[in-house]
Amino acid sequence: MKNRKVIVLKFGGSSVANVEKIRFVAGKILSFKRKGFKPVVVVSAPGDMTDELVAEAERIAKNPLSHKRELDMLLSIGEQKTISLLAMALLEMKQKVISFTGHQLGIITDRNFTNARIRRVSTRKLFEALKRNYIVIVAGFQGKTEDGEITTLGRGGSDLTAVALASTLKVGCKIFTDVPGIFTANPRLYKKAKKIDIMSFEEMLEMAGAGAGVMQARAVELAKNQDVSFEVASTFANRAGTFVCGEDELLEEIVVRGVTEDLDQVKVSIVGVPDRPGIAAKVFESLTGEDICVDMIIQSSARRTKKSRAINDISFTVKRQDAEKTKKILETLRRRLNAKEVIIKENIAKVSIVGSGMRTHSGVASRMFSALARKGINIEMISTSEIKISCVIEKKNVKKAVEALAKEFNL
Ligand code: ASP
Ligand code: MG
Repeated sequence: MKNRKVIVLKFGGSSVANVEKIRFVAGKILSFKRKGFKPVVVVSAPGDMTDELVAEAERIAKNPLSHKRELDMLLSIGEQKTISLLAMALLEMKQKVISFTGHQLGIITDRNFTNARIRRVSTRKLFEALKRNYIVIVAGFQGKTEDGEITTLGRGGSDLTAVALASTLKVGCKIFTDVPGIFTANPRLYKKAKKIDIMSFEEMLEMAGAGAGVMQARAVELAKNQDVSFEVASTFANRAGTFVCGEDELLEEIVVRGVTEDLDQVKVSIVGVPDRPGIAAKVFESLTGEDICVDMIIQSSARRTKKSRAINDISFTVKRQDAEKTKKILETLRRRLNAKEVIIKENIAKVSIVGSGMRTHSGVASRMFSALARKGINIEMISTSEIKISCVIEKKNVKKAVEALAKEFNL
């Protein structure tokens, strides 16, 4: 159904945290209707309800993730609370409105409980309700398997529901949240950070991956693959947010769109491993099996020991929560390979600059390194992608680094 007037509006947990806020959101939905739109609304669970449900599950089960089916049964109730209250608020405003759980609407997923993928969205109920001019309210974050089991879509999954519905309906989507949009830098570290008016899917994905997560990454990926442009804006301020779209829609090419920091990684080094084929493979194979995600990797150039054995060091970063596990695994490997030592460095930070203009502009890396050098900040690791450059530095320098980079690139 190609209907330009349909619009998907998504409201996050903090926007529907209590009855007053739900009533406010109902008013906001109504204002879209008055502007001539047919709203399809996706909502999250109120406030921290999902976290609270997880906490309760943890009080009953040592590891709730070993009971994934039952966990999804529990986690899906948060969103169900919001849809009914929001629908009632609109009914009180004399609106035609109907709420659906993911189950009822027919959001069909695979069987991967707690992190399910959407396979398809059945459109029958949705189209029927829209045709009859109903405001449609859909519970985010949930679906059902082909045989009717309740599933959830991974934390932050209401964003994914919204993008999937927008893609099905071939319309745009507004993601309302508690921030005015995406910023050129973390405003807590750089006071003069500006809201970004427009950016590409790729830039948003790279900025999210670099530690600035406003939206679920899977949702942004789906938006990119299905070309669903969307806007991230504040629920409570009536102002334009950040518009996110395909690169071809950007009018102006900006070299660096933003700077981000990630304090959630540690640096791991295995020192003095033999310099021969297959060693790096062994190191990383040992981690893959344990579900540990490795981010930046460097290998030093080989040197010789006194006994003339060729050795080198391999360093990489992992999430802070995986540090202990990684150390244990690498210690075992160290003994097997007769390597010198395993070092975990905790107080590091990763700062990154992101911008699609990097594809066509040269000299961006050197400007970044010079800006850091002028502040006396040492770079421990570097990695690049087509549109991102990241440096690992000491954690204590992170504010200084963000400020220096923001100034260097006029952010
Ligand atoms: N309520 C779910 C969560 O907290 C989904 C969402 O809010 O997007 O992860
Ligand atoms: Mg969210």
